[in-house]
Amino acid sequence: MLIHKTTIHPGKQTSLKLPIGALPSGDSISMDLKVFRAVEEGPVILITAGIHGDEINGIEILRRLIINRILDHLKFGTVILVPVVNVYGFINRSREVPDGKDVNRSFPGNMVGSLASRIARTLTKKILPTVDLVVDLHTGGHEHFNFPQIRYTRGDHISAEIGKVFNAPLLLAKTAISKSFRKIAVEMKKPVIIYEGGENQRLDEFSIQEGLDGILRLLFHYEMIDNPGLKKNAVSHFERTSWIRASKSGLFRLYRHSGQEVKKGEIIGEIGDPMGSRSYNVQANREGIIIGHNNAAIVNQGDALFHVAY
Ligand SMILES: [Zn+2]
Repeated sequence: MLIHKTTIHPGKQTSLKLPIGALPSGDSISMDLKVFRAVEEGPVILITAGIHGDEINGIEILRRLIINRILDHLKFGTVILVPVVNVYGFINRSREVPDGKDVNRSFPGNMVGSLASRIARTLTKKILPTVDLVVDLHTGGHEHFNFPQIRYTRGDHISAEIGKVFNAPLLLAKTAISKSFRKIAVEMKKPVIIYEGGENQRLDEFSIQEGLDGILRLLFHYEMIDNPGLKKNAVSHFERTSWIRASKSGLFRLYRHSGQEVKKGEIIGEIGDPMGSRSYNVQANREGIIIGHNNAAIVNQGDALFHVAY
């Protein structure tokens, strides 16, 4: 296997630095990889995190795979880890790169384009062609918690099957967003699943553990590691999701959380004004399960409060 002029031989593990660019200070910036290759041939699995630089649960998941030496004795195949795809965002605690562009809307990218475009191109050109399947790790946004879930591209049956093997509590069919990593991977005929767990800039142990467990189940499914002996989640599989938004501005209190089922008309939160003169119930507009919620205490009209799958 050859990645950016480095050959990774059977039975070897290698750390690689793919050049991305430089900081204004002159320090060079690289995309760091760890590659673990078994003696025996088998699937090549790419696991990426931090494409949004402030989504750190995935970064921690990959760190634990490394420090717990889970990949040191692979029985078959190869695992490529990219713990921090968007180094600039990670340094700045930001989703984007410094010019405000989103790496996950910059694929397939261009090596003489913007920073986001260069990062995207490095993944597309130097890594993606060598892999058989992709697991991309994400979290919710600022103060938005996502209950551990796998998203696969609607209609892509292979990815749906891989998602079932991962066995996160929720499995969702989603259309791939234009210029996203998932979209380009699908176009290159690489099955890809997205793991979402927790919120940005916050390590959430439940989301970290579910993500780690899912990766172990996947590796065991391909006989790359021994049976990790994990319990099986009862998976809820959904094809559609919608948001319940704030009808008023004010202080927001949650009565229901992600992972809980709701009935149509059920009161799941309350918004009140600071003077105590008015309060409004937030009601579920359909039956389903809450897959994400807003942790913000202060909300504006129109803010997304609950993400419900049905
Ligand atoms: Zn993300």
